[in-house]
Amino acid sequence: MTDLPLDFGDPADLERLRRDFRAWLTGHALPARGADEPVPVFLHRWHRILHSGGWVGLDVPREYGGRGLTALHQVAVSDELGARGAPGVPRIGYLAHALMRFGDEEQRRRLLPRMLAGEDVWCQGFSEPGAGSDLAGMSTRAERGEDGHYVVNGQKLWTSYAQYSDLCLLLARTDPTAPPHAAISAFVLPLDRPGVTVRPLRAANGDDEFCELFLDDVRLADSERIGAEGDGWALAMTTVAYERNALDTGHLSKYGLLIERLRRRARERRDTLPDGLLSDVGRCVVDYQVLVAHSRRRTAERLAGRTAGPESSVDKLLMTRAEQRLYETALKVFPEELYGEGGEVFGDYLYSRAASVYGGTSQIQRNIIAKRLLRLPADGRG
Ligand SMILES: Cc1cc2nc3c(=O)[nH]c(=O)nc-3n(C[C@H](O)[C@H](O)[C@H](O)COP(=O)(O)OP(=O)(O)OC[C@H]3O[C@@H](n4cnc5c(N)ncnc54)[C@H](O)[C@@H]3O)c2cc1C
Repeated sequence: MTDLPLDFGDPADLERLRRDFRAWLTGHALPARGADEPVPVFLHRWHRILHSGGWVGLDVPREYGGRGLTALHQVAVSDELGARGAPGVPRIGYLAHALMRFGDEEQRRRLLPRMLAGEDVWCQGFSEPGAGSDLAGMSTRAERGEDGHYVVNGQKLWTSYAQYSDLCLLLARTDPTAPPHAAISAFVLPLDRPGVTVRPLRAANGDDEFCELFLDDVRLADSERIGAEGDGWALAMTTVAYERNALDTGHLSKYGLLIERLRRRARERRDTLPDGLLSDVGRCVVDYQVLVAHSRRRTAERLAGRTAGPESSVDKLLMTRAEQRLYETALKVFPEELYGEGGEVFGDYLYSRAASVYGGTSQIQRNIIAKRLLRLPADGRG
């Protein structure tokens, strides 16, 4: 379990919350996954159970369906879940933050409680076949029809779990003449709207996470736009900034469990491990400790009221490095996982390869750090 420092918030209050949650967990064990139940459907069931106990959206204001507590309370819940190897709280924090910041009052009151309750499952329609890293180059367009509605045409790609979702946070170009960053708007798109086709893609490892999303003359009302026209870029940056933090994604406690297992096994197998592997284990522990310290710092900033910004690119790089090295090393220390039934570590290892791509690639994070944090000139001189 990540040992959260006591100098955040009110420790007694936090300890009480942890105790209450542990007590709740003893009466609400993780349900078994059905034999044919797809993972996202199973996780969605778990999401609803957690919500029924009041354990989702702790840091979201009460009027929007949350509990009006702090980010630290939500982190404590993730921490308790991670320590038991249970799936974390649903990964909706980054969508909720974007809606709280850009949605109007009516949208916040309508959309957030349903999102937190798992009544609406959301996906993210940003990337396109010709626009991933270069998101500003997207070609999906939303044009005003004569009756004031938008008419949307285009294609999205890599939309995770769209086939299990109800709503999509969609980016589309609303102004063909404005510079790219001012031309994009954000919409909430119901996936059962006429003109929407969701086509799942089968990945090489058998997963069906990715989908293509085809949009043919899809009509969207003004009230389905989030924020003003042209706010889409800023909204997208808010979304990915929260998506890049190990605390928001609940990865930290999961890594912590594997680190402990790795240390134990490395000690037991010390005499038989190949040269250099113990050093790799040491590097994993250091990466993890750096990530924990860094995440605590981010939590402190969040508690002080700072919103996530370009510094989240540092979070993403640290998280990617910690995760990829951890699974790579774990497979070397317990190679039986490669062949074992279920091979959970192997599955996680394969997925860890994607960490340097989703939410913006590592190269793009370095570009952001160079330009927006270090203010280096674009040509690398000076
Ligand atoms: C597991 C997973 C889940 C995803 N889920 C979603 C989702 O739900 N919704 C969604 O919208 N998208 C999703 N994506 C897509 C993801 O955001 C994109 O894959 C990512 O932004 C990269 O875009 P691309 O694949 O088009 O690669 P490209 O942009 O074509 O990049 C190819 C390579 O070129 C490099 N490159 C590109 N531009 C530069 C540059 N300026 N400087 C240096 N190097 C550069 C990149 O780093 C990369 O190595 C997901 C991706 C993954 C892997």
